[in-house]
Amino acid sequence: MLRTFRADLHIHTCLSPCADIDMSPSAILETAEQKGLDIIAICDHNSAENVAAAVRAASDRELTVLCGMEIASQEEAHIIALFDTPAEILELQRTVYAHLPKGMAVEMNVDDQIVVNEFDEVEGFNTKLLIGATDLSVHDIVDIVHNIGGLAIASHIDREMFSIVGQLGFIPEDLPLDAVEISANTPLEEARESFAMHGNFPMITSSDAHFLNDIGKVNTDFFMAEPTTEEMKKAFLNVDGSSVIYSEPV
Ligand SMILES: [Zn+2]
Ligand SMILES: [Zn+2]
Repeated sequence: MLRTFRADLHIHTCLSPCADIDMSPSAILETAEQKGLDIIAICDHNSAENVAAAVRAASDRELTVLCGMEIASQEEAHIIALFDTPAEILELQRTVYAHLPKGMAVEMNVDDQIVVNEFDEVEGFNTKLLIGATDLSVHDIVDIVHNIGGLAIASHIDREMFSIVGQLGFIPEDLPLDAVEISANTPLEEARESFAMHGNFPMITSSDAHFLNDIGKVNTDFFMAEPTTEEMKKAFLNVDGSSVIYSEPV
């Protein structure tokens, strides 16, 4: 049976140095439910250390938490990786950590890069340079994500900074992205026209929330059987009656 799932697939936690300290797993889940979301993805910069906590915090809720990461390529283009299980995202994290710049994040404030558990208790602070770029190319990243079995989505391609279109000026024809993401800044109709020249990729809209108030600001509805990445892939490809429903934000 197919049904509609409302998804916001790009949400940062307090682990991202640029995200608000209030972005704890429970607060994110609470806000996401209030906004009527069925699926969220936790996507911190170059790390997934708060993902398992968010998944555990959601265990007694209806909401599905997908395991994500926003990886910065050597071209400084952001790519979202999405998986169903913490084990898969931790496998990706091992590779991404091996390709981060060496050294520690300097001038760390206590509210930067916070690792928490499912009860929102501070477990520690990540001292890696998470905000930096990896030395992986966009091709490397998409290959690595696909080899582990996840989805690779180019982040906020309508943004000039840190997007594949902004950094490269184009999307390489041989880059097998599963979808591209449009930020809350650009209406979807306008994005479809502006980015038609960059290929016929499925488009999603996500909030890229760094603050609780931004969660669900824009989202994407999926018509599919289950809240899984496998079903999302079918929706992107319009297989078995599944599809992406392009609702405009209210
Ligand atoms: Zn980004
Ligand atoms: Zn982001």
